[in-house]
Order: sequence, then structure tokens, then C-alpha cells
Amino acid sequence: MLIVGGGIAGIVAALRASEHGWTVTLVERQPVLGGLLASVRPAGGKHSFDFGTHIPAATGDDELDALLFGGMRDEEWRVFPVLHAGTFWNGRLSPDSACLDLRTLPPTDYAAVLTEMLDETVVPAVGFETLADQLTAVYGPRLLATVFEPVLRKFYGLGSAELAPDAHRLFGLVRFLCLDPETARKVKRNPVLDGKVGLHDFRETVLGAPTHLARYPRAGGVGRWIDHLARKLADAGVNVRLGVGLSRLDAERGVATTTAEETLEFDQLGWSLPPSQLLRLLPHSAAASWPSPRLATATLYHFLTESEPLPLSLYVTCYDPAFRLFRVTLYRNLQPDVGGPARITVELISTEANSPRPSPEEIFDELRRMNVMAEEAQFLRCFTQELGPAFPLQTPALHAANRHAAECVAVDFPQAFLLGRAAGNGFFMRDVLLDVCRTVARVPGPSAIARPGTVMRRIETMIAALRSRPARPGSIHSH
Ligand SMILES: Cc1cc2nc3c(=O)[nH]c(=O)nc-3n(C[C@H](O)[C@H](O)[C@H](O)COP(=O)(O)OP(=O)(O)OC[C@H]3O[C@@H](n4cnc5c(N)ncnc54)[C@H](O)[C@@H]3O)c2cc1C
Repeated sequence: MLIVGGGIAGIVAALRASEHGWTVTLVERQPVLGGLLASVRPAGGKHSFDFGTHIPAATGDDELDALLFGGMRDEEWRVFPVLHAGTFWNGRLSPDSACLDLRTLPPTDYAAVLTEMLDETVVPAVGFETLADQLTAVYGPRLLATVFEPVLRKFYGLGSAELAPDAHRLFGLVRFLCLDPETARKVKRNPVLDGKVGLHDFRETVLGAPTHLARYPRAGGVGRWIDHLARKLADAGVNVRLGVGLSRLDAERGVATTTAEETLEFDQLGWSLPPSQLLRLLPHSAAASWPSPRLATATLYHFLTESEPLPLSLYVTCYDPAFRLFRVTLYRNLQPDVGGPARITVELISTEANSPRPSPEEIFDELRRMNVMAEEAQFLRCFTQELGPAFPLQTPALHAANRHAAECVAVDFPQAFLLGRAAGNGFFMRDVLLDVCRTVARVPGPSAIARPGTVMRRIETMIAALRSRPARPGSIHSH
């Protein structure tokens, strides 16, 4: 089996497939595995930074969790029974809750929003054409107008009528603080309201169930997790090819050629990149007219500072449209035992391709104004990193194109299967990994499959053998 893309989706697919008895080759374009879960040490320094906030958490699937976390040494990993997240919105820092606090709205808006929010009517989970339809039905028009629209414009550069259902989930905009803590706990006994009303303190969330523990290395970055999984790939005998992509694909013969001109044979192909890239490589007739999705790009600002961050949150998401930054990761709180300057990664999302990026000074000033850093705090150094395209804008057209791509692949290239974030079946790591396991489990076992190339090669060998035989007198040959 050949797996393309060595992000977490490709790594887990390779490990699962080798557990199912496949001989697996994994191809990754970068010189290291991990995709968005790699870590960097800028300028060859000793300080490690991640590509944003990535704190691996157990999925609740025992087999998968054993594969992901089995064999980790306790002294190397910090375990979090619950993730301490904070938010900044409406000019206020809430260091202990990942939910927006609607009580900070002007009183008339708050009253109207609350009445609509606390409507207990059960709304169907599917069947909406746009996000605007979905949010109006679930939360009511006032919350849509006063809260969702400005935040969606900040992150996507689009309004809810231009976005696909569920696009708000990518940014965790699901539950809100709208009552006092005691009343919220009571109201949440109602399953409909439980889906909309948040708890006021991160310590009350259910991540603390033993199966949902999150982990982060005591030193270094999340890339250590990838190193741990890379050792498992080696133990499983997976052939990992780094620094190469595919330049040609002969689906009929089951042969792929890498950009290093190496030939790789396969009977099944796992594809964790956007499906349009697979269609182009085949090439498939649908590829020519494929719409190019609008992409959001991400820029990272990695700061070193002698000042300590003010909140104790592991990360803070900034929903406030008056601020440019998206999320702040506070490594001091993730790794309190690591000395030296405090490390901070700020993620910035841009939807305008050529919009000028704010300077590190402007971003650090936002941290001061958010009360994440003290007013007098300064940074020692900042390393900026362009992540490039981070995710496609979640429009109905994108979802339709992804569905169409999946159909084209299923019909015209049945020995391929789509994996990961790019397959469109999930965005967050947990959803992506559970989907990867389901997908790999559906692939028939290696013994049940005749290699697509095998039959062709057998026929070619027979033809070559026939051709090399001396011609019998009187027989006719066509060339
Ligand atoms: C801005 C942002 C914030 C996020 N925040 C969170 C979060 O808070 N929590 C969470 O759970 N998830 C979060 N995610 C999602 C999480 O990062 C993904 O679920 C996870 O990384 C998906 O892994 P993947 O393997 O599908 O994709 P990637 O990590 O993108 O991996 C794809 C791999 O394919 C490789 N590749 C690309 N082209 C080729 C080629 N031609 N040939 C070979 N290899 C190639 C890439 O180099 C990369 O290694 C976030 C994502 C983004 C973009």
C-alpha cells in the first residue's frame, strides 16, 4: 500500500494498514514527518515552537489511543486531565473559559439573544444549505447578527450566507456563556440547551475522563509526538520516503513515480492531500474544470520574552474583530519546568492573499492590549513563519467539489481512498484520526486483493515471451 502525505493522517493510516498486514510505503514531500504537527527551532536555536496550538488528546477509541500514546514514558510527557483554554472577545479576556461570554453584550442585545438561545426546540442536525440557515435555526437571528457575523468575517472574510453549514465549528463557536455558573449547570441538563450553553470554568469540562487525557512533551514541542510515532513506523517496517512527492501515477498498472524518479508499486493508494491534486495527477477529465478553492493562509509569530504571560491558560483564542491575531499559545503554561525566556506562538489567519502582515511589534502590542502580557512587557526576539495555505474557506461550493472529487475517485480509481483533513470528513485531529481508522478498516485485506499491476505485468511478460520465440515458418506476425 502507498500512502501519500506524512501528516498525522498519513502516519496513522500507515500504522493501521501495517497492523492489518499491508506492506506500506509512506511518501512525504517535506524532509520531516508531521505536517502541521511538526515543531521548529528557528535560527538553529534551542527554543522549540509549534505550528500553532497542537495538544494531542486521546480519542476515546482504545485501539487507536494505544497506537497513538502507547509506550510514552511518563517522565517525558505532561498529562492534562482538562485543557485550560481562554478567550478574548468584546475587549475582555476570559482566561478560564473557551466560550464567548454573551453577558458582555449591551443589555438590549443580551436580553434578545438570551430569549432566542434558550429556545428548546429541537432543530434537525442536517439539511441546511448555508451556515446562515443553520445558525438562525439553532441560535436565532440576533446572535447570528451580533456575534457570529463579525467573528466569521474576521476568520473567513465571508458572511454566514456564503459559508457552508458547520463552518463555525472550526473556530469552536458552539457554546456560549449566557447565565450565571449555577444556572448554566442546571440548564445544561436539557440536551438541546446543553449544545448551546457553556460551562464557566474549564475545570468543569468532561475532558477529565481517563480516556480523554491530553498530552504534551515536558520539553521540546509537539514534534516529539511525531518522533515517537516515527519510531513506531520504523518498528512496523513502514518504508518512509521523505523529501519527495509523486510526479506520475499509472493507476491502471499500480505504479507511482516519485519526484526523485523512483518507481513505487502499489495495490492500494491512501491519499491525504486535497482530492483535486489526485485528480490532476491521474489525470482525470474532471481535473481540467476543477474550481480552485479560496484558501486562508496562516502566519506564525514565535516570540521569546523575559516577561511572564499574565493568564494561566495554555492558549487563548481571540475572537475580537478589532484585533488581528487568531490564537496565542503560551508554552510557559504548557511546560512550566522549562526555564529561560517565555515562548509564545501567535497565529494570524489571512483571507486576502496580498494583505500586508502586521509587524511583530503590532502583534505584541495586541498581546498587551489583550492583557495576555503586561503593559511594560517587551519581546527579546520574534521569528515569523509563513505557513502558507492553511485551510480552504468552508463554502457550499467547496463541499460540493469535495463530494464530487470523492465520487470521481470512488468510481474511476477504486483502489484509492481519501484520508485526513483534505478528504473533508473532519478538521480537528480527533475526527480526522477516527475517520482514518474507519477508512483503512474498510480497505479489503492485502490477501484479498490482486495487485492492479500484477495482471498487466503477467500479460506483458507472456507477450514478451511469445515475441522472443523464433517465428514458426508460415505463421503471420503483426507488429
Ligand atoms: C490554522 C489551523 C489550526 C488548527 N487547530 C487545531 C486545533 O486546535 N485542534 C485540532 O485538533 N486540530 C487543529 N487543526 C487541524 C489539525 O492540524 C489537523 O486535523 C491535522 O493536522 C490533519 O492532519 P493531516 O495529516 O490531514 O494534514 P497535514 O498536517 O496538513 O499533513 C499533510 C502532509 O502532506 C504533505 N504533503 C503535501 N503535499 C504533498 C505532496 N505533493 N506529496 C507528498 N506529501 C505532501 C505535507 O507536507 C504534510 O506533511 C488546525 C489546523 C489549522 C490549519
